[in-house]
Amino acid sequence: MPAEILDGNAIANQVRTRIREEVAGLTAMGCPVPGLATVLVGDNPASHVYVKSKQKACQEVGIQSFGYTLPASTSQGELEQLVEELNQNPLVNGILVQLPLPSGMDEEQVLNRIRIEKDVDGFHPLNLGRLAQKGRDPLFIPCTPAGVMYLLDKTIPKLEGVNAVVLGRSNIVGMPVALLLVRANATVTICHSRTQDLPGVVRRADVLVAAVGKAEMVRGDWVKPGAVVIDVGVNRVEDNTRPRGYRLVGDVAFDEVKEVAGAITPVPGGVGPMTLSMLLMNTVRAARLSYKPKN
Ligand code: NAP
Repeated sequence: MPAEILDGNAIANQVRTRIREEVAGLTAMGCPVPGLATVLVGDNPASHVYVKSKQKACQEVGIQSFGYTLPASTSQGELEQLVEELNQNPLVNGILVQLPLPSGMDEEQVLNRIRIEKDVDGFHPLNLGRLAQKGRDPLFIPCTPAGVMYLLDKTIPKLEGVNAVVLGRSNIVGMPVALLLVRANATVTICHSRTQDLPGVVRRADVLVAAVGKAEMVRGDWVKPGAVVIDVGVNRVEDNTRPRGYRLVGDVAFDEVKEVAGAITPVPGGVGPMTLSMLLMNTVRAARLSYKPKN
């Protein structure tokens, strides 16, 4: 039986409807309109598209967005100065510095500058460190991992005890997803470029999260029948039948794997829209946490 297709667009839209209601409720109580500052440095075309979609999504749910577009020639000091100003700005609840920064800039140093209370991307080492510690809670969970967990929560009633395999160990996706799965009491295997017999390891997964950035790497015969497959990858492959000359595919060979898996996310239309909804959710959370009613 073909897999259930997990419609990230539909689920993300349901989340955004709830966020819009929450924003309306908060502002009715007297909370200032939640604000998200986006900081974009340089000319990376994909980053411009991502930032625009974040600003549009903010507008749709009633979050105020403050856009800062800086030239590639911006110095590290100037960027950090802007982050400092945004840290002090009471209208800004969340600060999102779009990655990657132009080469030569120290991303880690910039991210460290963001006040943890405004770290809606969840990449501050304090937030990630708390995620890794038992009994501690981060203020914000990174958006893509949070989106992955939201989709899993909608699909599997209980993650406790399931065998989960995470492909990739990046700071922004693989590692936080693995930590979240551990928190949900799954038994987690993390794979990376040095893993031996990757297909064999993947075949043991009841839940598979792929975040490697390799087009259609996971094949149908790697997947355990009935497994839940969350494909985070976004890869361009040449396609001359498309006006742009390419199409987007995930890290999973969708057509093959959907014949074996129990459930699978498509690319596009799976994890991507969830990431954006989680960013909105984190921004509203930041606004709620910073709001001190007068009496
Ligand atoms: P990344 O920083 O490049 O990390 C890739 C990870 O995959 C690394 O841990 C790497 O291992 C591992 N890897 C690479 N080749 C491998 C192979 N042949 N076998 C096994 N493991 C391999 O990438 P990322 O930032 O995590 O992003 C991963 C993918 O997710 C990309 O396609 C990206 O575009 C996409 N993404 C999507 C969203 C979304 O919202 N949908 C958000 C973020 C990222 P090593 O650690 O050993 O190098």
